[in-house]
Amino acid sequence: MHYLDNAATSWPKPEIVYESLDQGFRQFLSAKRGTSQTSRHGAAALDAARQTLAELLHVPDASRIVFTGGCTQALNLAIQAFPWQPGDGIVISALEHHALSRPVRKVAREKQLEFYVVPYTDEEPFSLDAYEQLLRTKPNIRLVATMHASNVIGSILPVEAIGRLARQYGKYYLLDAAQSAGALPIDAQRFNADMIALPAHKSLYGPPGIGALYVSENVPLQTFMEGGTGSDSGEHAVRLVVPDMFEVGTIPMPQIHAMAAGAEWVMETGIETIRQHETRLLQHLLDGLKALPEVIVYGHTHVERKTPVVSFNLIGKQPKSVGELLFDRYDIALRAGFHCAPMAHQAIGTLPLGGTIRASLGYYTTLDDVDALLNALGHIGDVTHHSDRKDSLSEERQ
Ligand code: PMP
Repeated sequence: MHYLDNAATSWPKPEIVYESLDQGFRQFLSAKRGTSQTSRHGAAALDAARQTLAELLHVPDASRIVFTGGCTQALNLAIQAFPWQPGDGIVISALEHHALSRPVRKVAREKQLEFYVVPYTDEEPFSLDAYEQLLRTKPNIRLVATMHASNVIGSILPVEAIGRLARQYGKYYLLDAAQSAGALPIDAQRFNADMIALPAHKSLYGPPGIGALYVSENVPLQTFMEGGTGSDSGEHAVRLVVPDMFEVGTIPMPQIHAMAAGAEWVMETGIETIRQHETRLLQHLLDGLKALPEVIVYGHTHVERKTPVVSFNLIGKQPKSVGELLFDRYDIALRAGFHCAPMAHQAIGTLPLGGTIRASLGYYTTLDDVDALLNALGHIGDVTHHSDRKDSLSEERQ
């Protein structure tokens, strides 16, 4: 199989991640909750995992890293546990994934908030002026929330500059690092980020179902779920201490240990090294797609401002049917449709087309995988071209 669906989840994973998952499952039981050796080992591995993620995100205090059941849960925590007042405002970008836009719409509905969407512009892809104007003219805004990189077109957003504006206007700033954690350098301090949500299973090459939220001590998040924290407290509500107040229930140590193993592997391999490999293949893919007359690529094509995620269509073809054909006939795995981000398709004009075909590369992608896709598309395009010609010839004859 030629696997080109790394934006959905990376595959394969480094061996150390599989091994860590197994080790965590066998050896780390009931972290922070038991008297056994395995429980103590689990607690130590939990602390070590927090340290690893703090290092990845350049967070000085590791206790501000909260483990969650994935990036979606981290975003829900950040957005739903935020201390909203009726009439408050929230800014999001026009490319957001459901994982961010849906909780925002939910709290906006339930808590009478206003939310503002910064429009997408093809080249930039976001105008800082639009952010500045909103922040200047809407004093009710309390939170600016944005993705770091688009899961549909791979565009990297100017998150450092947006963070600077948010800080300048005294707003909280939430970053969705689903498509960037492990793929691009992230620095919570340099970005002025108050909260960063990330998953393990994409560019950190970890397992699904685990993620994290960094919460700075400036954000007075309220409790989100009640339950046991292993603290032996007799009180009827969780103690308001981060990270415990958000890590209720038995800690999923196998997943946390494997997430940390993935993050360590990324840091040892080097984000720059990973990015160089991916960018070289991305350029090859974009050049190849450009040479195919039946293909339309969406979004800008400057590789230095993109993650290795490309959305395209074959003229006149349903993205879903091309996606299925690519797998059934050519063994190429990718994704076709809206990629849980219909707002992004609205922005790039592919909503009425049924979305796009998305190819997304990773560290384990090879030149051969990319060439397999280009050859297959060339072949499908040729067949289409000939059958179109045949149709028009027979029409002419009639
Ligand atoms: N945000 C973006 C931009 C994403 O691409 C995704 C995953 N497709 C998420 C959030 C949610 O991540 P998860 O499914 O791992 O919770």
